[in-house]
Amino acid sequence: MSNEDLRALMEADRWLERLAGQRATLGERVELTALEADLRERLGVLRAAEARLEPLTRAYDEAAAASSRLRERRDRLAARLEASRDARESAALSGELDQVRDALGAAEDRELEALVELEPAAETTAAMRREAQPLAARRAELIATLAALESSLDEEIAAQRLAREAAAARVDGALRARYEAALVRAGGAGAAQVHEGRCDGCRIALSPLDLDRWRHAPEGAYPECPSCGRLLLA
Ligand SMILES: [Zn+2]
Repeated sequence: MSNEDLRALMEADRWLERLAGQRATLGERVELTALEADLRERLGVLRAAEARLEPLTRAYDEAAAASSRLRERRDRLAARLEASRDARESAALSGELDQVRDALGAAEDRELEALVELEPAAETTAAMRREAQPLAARRAELIATLAALESSLDEEIAAQRLAREAAAARVDGALRARYEAALVRAGGAGAAQVHEGRCDGCRIALSPLDLDRWRHAPEGAYPECPSCGRLLLA
């Protein structure tokens, strides 16, 4: 039954290799990597836009504060003028009030100009953040999905490793040593089958001579594939 034990070990190793391949090529991992690259790029563009926005915001805030100070001054002067019963004082207040009104008009113009510059720039950064939101949500979703998928695959791999060790224990010592050496050399599994004249481990065709050697090998001999070195099952 040695051939069947060796076959079972080969199948167990092939199954392990498939699981490892599955874990390494999860579509969600590919999507997450691309998504994170996209988000990093967007973040760079957003930071640059925010850097351009900052002086515009400062200029607008300063202009708005200047208007607000002048409005307060105007209101105070208007109240004093209203309360004034002295003709000379009234004339002086009225003159000052006219000056402040002119200055306020100019300040409000500057405030409006600053706002006109600020608004589209602010809208640009706001739009960038809005666009990034669903991507960030998808990223969180992918991370959670991947964690679940990987942990379930890891459980499967752990169970399969135990099954593999049990299968290996049934193969006798010298043959098992040859198998393990071939596994280290070739990767995946340490044995292969001959199918339509080809080694199904490396898919390379055997020469007629090697094919003949394999066909007529004594029981339990398992010649090695000349290309990949895997033991060729009977
Ligand atoms: Zn081969």
